[in-house]
This record gives sequence, C-alpha cells and structure tokens, in this order.
Amino acid sequence: MFSPEKIKRIVIKIGTSTLTHSTGRLDLRHLETLARVLSDIKNMGLDVVLVTSGAIGVGMSKLGMTVRPSELRYKQAAASVGQCELMHIYDKFFLDYSQVVGQILITKNDITEESRREKVENTFEALFELGAIPVVNENDTTGVDEILFGDNDTLSAEVAALVRADLLIIFSDIDGLYDSDPRENKDAKIISRVHFADDNLKGLAGGAGTRLGTGGMVTKIHAAEVCFENDIPMVITNGKRLEDAYDILAGKINGTLFMK
Ligand code: GLU
Repeated sequence: MFSPEKIKRIVIKIGTSTLTHSTGRLDLRHLETLARVLSDIKNMGLDVVLVTSGAIGVGMSKLGMTVRPSELRYKQAAASVGQCELMHIYDKFFLDYSQVVGQILITKNDITEESRREKVENTFEALFELGAIPVVNENDTTGVDEILFGDNDTLSAEVAALVRADLLIIFSDIDGLYDSDPRENKDAKIISRVHFADDNLKGLAGGAGTRLGTGGMVTKIHAAEVCFENDIPMVITNGKRLEDAYDILAGKINGTLFMK
C-alpha cells in the first residue's frame, strides 16, 4: 500500500521540457514554482533531493547554438555553461525561500564502485544533516558514454536508491504511462497503477509509437525497474503541474504510480 505519511525522504526529477521553453531559455515560472514547492516540502520536515536536467539545452541556448551539436566536445561545452546557469538560478530562487542548495554532479562509477558510492552517500547525508537540498545532474562536462547513465530518469532512480528515498517523483512532459500512444489514439488511458515492470510494459513503452519512446517512456520504465528492485514507489506525472507534489504526498496521485 502507498503510505504517504511514512515518507521522510523524497527525490524529485525535472526534465528539460519543464525547465525550459521551446527556445531553450529558462522557464522562470516553472523554476520559481519548483523552488517554492520543494522548499515547502522541505519545511514540512522531509529531506528533499532535486535531480535536474537541462544543462545541455540551457547551455546551447546561452551559446547561441540552434541545433543540438553532434560532436561530444560541443555538447560538453554546452553542459558546462548550462550547468552554471542552472545552479545560479536554483541558488537564487531557493534562497528566496531561505533554502540552501548544494550541487552534486555524478557519473555512473560514482554509484557502481563501492568505495566511491560510499563517499557520495556520505556527502548526501552530510547535506541532509546540514539542512541543504542536494541538486543532482550527471557530470556531462567530463563524462564519456562509458561512465554516464545517459538519461536523468535512470540517474534519478539510482539516486533514490543511493539515498534510500521513500518516493521518487518524475515530472515529465507527459501525464503518466498510457495504455497506447495518446497522440495517435484519443481514447488512450493513463494506467494509474503498475505493480511490476514486465516485458509487456516495456513493449508498451517502446512499441506504443516512437513518439512516446522519444518522450522518454523507455527510460522511465527502466527507472521504475530500479525502483522496484529497491522497493521505492515511483510516480510519473506532468511537470506542468508541479504543485501535484502536494497531492501525491497526501496520497492522491494524478499520473502513474509504480509500486510493488
Ligand atoms: N544530463 C542532461 C542535461 O542536463 C540531461 C539528460 C536527460 O535529460 O535525461 O542536459
């Protein structure tokens, strides 16, 4: 059973489409709401972790790149600029609500190698103890394929497992997991509850039209698998309604709940 009253630690993941306009520039209204809602949840006494995307997109726009570069070094340069901008704005907006943020940039081996994992875990715990909100992204600037998760859905689930979170919320550009592609089938319905990730589910995510796939449902199902393994409930809901986090914490889920 989903028991929101037992939630003490929460990881919230925000995708690029929630953080930016189609121009690639920051969506300040969403960012302000995000900072307010997360600060408020922190004020309720919960430990909060924000997993943020957007570094490459924001950096591209700031550097005047109109198309996503194919060369790795330019992607990394964009991430380097964008990550700065993101942290600048988070620092500023969270400070408006008297919250302190700390940046944690992670690569895959920080989580998979035991000795590194322990150190990262200690940093998270120290930040919680000191009352700060960790803001996490992949270390896109120096990371290469072999040491990157490559998507922040998987990263957010791994982080939820690392900090032993009680809940992961993925705010996406889609309302939840549908039983068929909502862009092709107007009768497509949201699946409100998923108990396990089986091949059927993977087929649904991948096969329900490439649009859903590109929307990143495959990586979200993968994140759900990590959460199932670690017994962490995970919710996918629409990033346009960041205040839904309150409803979720009150047990009312508008989206898809993945839970054993
Ligand atoms: N780490 C990437 C970025 O900040 C995002 C990856 C993702 O959106 O899944 O641009």
